[in-house]
Amino acid sequence: MDKIDELATALSRLPGIGPRQAKRFVFHLLSVPAGERTKLAELIASLGQNVHQCPDCLRFYNGTTATLCNYCSDPRRDDSLLMLLEKDQDLAAVERAGTYKGRYFVLGGVLTLTGKGAIREKDLNRVLEKRLQGGLKEIVLALSATSEGEHTADHIRILLAPYRDLVKTSVLGRGLSTGSELEYSDAETLRAALMNRKET
Ligand SMILES: [Zn+2]
Repeated sequence: MDKIDELATALSRLPGIGPRQAKRFVFHLLSVPAGERTKLAELIASLGQNVHQCPDCLRFYNGTTATLCNYCSDPRRDDSLLMLLEKDQDLAAVERAGTYKGRYFVLGGVLTLTGKGAIREKDLNRVLEKRLQGGLKEIVLALSATSEGEHTADHIRILLAPYRDLVKTSVLGRGLSTGSELEYSDAETLRAALMNRKET
């Protein structure tokens, strides 16, 4: 494979990037000064040294040492609530809304209807056990109001079945319109969806 195709193939593995768009990126990169390409390559290469994954919520955060993130280490946050989200950007949207003060867990994806995709099930079990010992009372399923989000929520309800007597599960209220992604929801909508969450 030539170098153009090789890079295009690598870029097309990024979420939301198709083969044609990947090719456009490659030709754009060929048109810019070599220094810009080098800078981009360095930023990608150093990402792992400057960004860490929190062992409790599994979100990525800026920092040079691997410890608990600021949300997981903050003693003022409510240990009785655990919100499960699809991705880091959704967590950022909930933080922007500013009303939720519980703990988080980032699933790292959704399950598609065709059985593709993966969520961090093993980590979820590990973190759940730990949170249950810390006084967890409610799990908030904060997934996008899409068919994949619903499908993932159904799967999580099955995973949580053994804990049903220990902890209740709720879903966001339908302030979120059908098909809407959490990441792009405005703060007001998210606050309403959180306040109107329903036990499931
Ligand atoms: Zn964390």
